[in-house]
Amino acid sequence: MAPSALTPTEEYHLSYKDLQSIDSNLGTTAYHGAGKAKELIGDALKSRVEAIDQDTCGVGEEDAFFVGDLGEVYRQHLRWKKNLGRVKPHYAVKCNPDPQVLRLLSELGTGFDCASKTEIEQVLKMGIDPSRIIYAQPCKTKSYVRYAAQAGVKQMTFDNADELYKTKQLFPDAELFLRILTDDSASLCRLSQKFGASLDTTAELLELAKTLELNVVGVAFHVGSGASDPKAFVKAVQDARFVFDQAADLGFNMHTLDVGGGFTGDQSFEPMAAVLSASLDAYFPPQVRIIGEPGRYYVATAFTIACHVIARRTVADATLGTTSYMLYLNDGVYGNFSSIIFDHQHPVPRVLKCGDDVLYDTGRSGYDTPSMIEYSIWGPTCDGIDVISSSCAFPETVNCGDWLYFEDMGAYTKCSATRFNGFSDTHDVVYVCSEPGASALLGL
Ligand SMILES: *Cc1c(COP(=O)(O)O)cnc(C)c1O
Repeated sequence: MAPSALTPTEEYHLSYKDLQSIDSNLGTTAYHGAGKAKELIGDALKSRVEAIDQDTCGVGEEDAFFVGDLGEVYRQHLRWKKNLGRVKPHYAVKCNPDPQVLRLLSELGTGFDCASKTEIEQVLKMGIDPSRIIYAQPCKTKSYVRYAAQAGVKQMTFDNADELYKTKQLFPDAELFLRILTDDSASLCRLSQKFGASLDTTAELLELAKTLELNVVGVAFHVGSGASDPKAFVKAVQDARFVFDQAADLGFNMHTLDVGGGFTGDQSFEPMAAVLSASLDAYFPPQVRIIGEPGRYYVATAFTIACHVIARRTVADATLGTTSYMLYLNDGVYGNFSSIIFDHQHPVPRVLKCGDDVLYDTGRSGYDTPSMIEYSIWGPTCDGIDVISSSCAFPETVNCGDWLYFEDMGAYTKCSATRFNGFSDTHDVVYVCSEPGASALLGL
C-alpha cells in the first residue's frame, strides 16, 4: 500500500458522505437515538444477566461484561463535525481499541492516532490507508520506527533532538510534527511533564531538522487528558502559531496543526469547541489543515459494564446500631476499573438486578441516595487497594448473586486491565446500535 500524499485541503475518501443530511437532522434523530439507547442497553443487560444461573453456570460465565452502543460513538462524531468542523479527528486508539468502534470510525472517515507497532498494525489490518494514521508518540522504539517506515505511516511526532537523529537514520521521508509543551494544569491527566518541547527549544530543534534535511510539516500539542479549561487550548494555539512562524523563517512550509486530544464529552464540549474554533480561525488561515486526536470524547459514554456480586460481608456497628455491607464484585481496579487508578475516574454504582427484579435505569445512583443502606464496593483480588467505592447507598438490600452496573465505562478501562491474581483481562462486549446511520455503515 503506497501512502497517498495528503494535501492540506484534501478530505478522506470515505468522509462524511451523508453529512449534510445528518447535520440537518442532528437534534431530532440524535435525541431520538439517545432515548432509544437506554432501551437497547437495558434490554441487552437484562437478557444477558437473566440467562446466567450462578448455581449451574460454567467457569467465568458470570464474568463482568460490557454493553457497547455504537450509536453513541456515531452521535459523538456528528457532534464533533457540527462543533469542530475544521478539525479532522484522528481517534486515539489507546483509549479503547475496540474493533467495532475502530470499524465504525473507519467508515465515518476519521483518521487514527497510534502509539505503538501493535496499534498501527491493528488499524492497517482493517484496510485503512497509512496516510490516515499519525504515529503520535514523540519517543519511539527504533524497531517500531522501522516498521512504520516499511508500512508507509509517514506522519509522526517528535519533541527532542535524539528523535530527529533516529528519524534521519531510519525514516528520512517521515512527515514530522513538532510536539510542543502546553499548560496542562487544568487537566485530569497531565501529559506535559513527560512530553513536549518548550518554546525556548523549538528554534534549535527546527534548525537541527533543517540541517538533517528532515521534513517538518506541522506542530502538535496535547493540553492534557480530560482538559477542563478552554484557555489552555487558546494558549496552545497561540504557541503553535509562534512555532509555525519560526519554522517559516527557517524555510519550512508547515501545513498541518494537530490540536491533540483531551476533549471531554460532557456539556463543556460545545463551549470549549467554540473557543477552540474561534482561535483556530484567528491564528491559522483556511489552507492550514487542522487535525485532532480525541480519545475519551468518542467512547467514554458508549460503554456500560455489568458486574456480578460474588460475595458480601455484613458489618454491624454495635455502638451506632447500624448495619452496612461490603460487596465484592468480579471486576475491580486491576481489571476494567483500572480507570480509577490510572485515569482518576469515579465510576458510579447502580443496581442492575436485585433478586428477580431488573432495575436498570429506574433507581438513583449509589451516590444520590443518602440515609439508605450503606455499602462499600470491592474488586475480586487479594489487594486492599482494590476498592471501587468506599461508600455508597442503595435503597435495596443487595445480595450475593445480584448485579450492579456502571455507565460511562468506555475510556481507559478495558485497555489497561491486567490479569493480576489470575482474573481475566478480556471481557465480552454485547453490541447494540441506537443510530440507524451507524447500523447502515456497519451493515448491522
Ligand atoms: C492519550 C492521547 C490522546 C487522547 O487523549 P484523550 O484525552 O483521550 O482525548 C491523544 N493524543 C496523544 C498524543 C495521547 O497521548
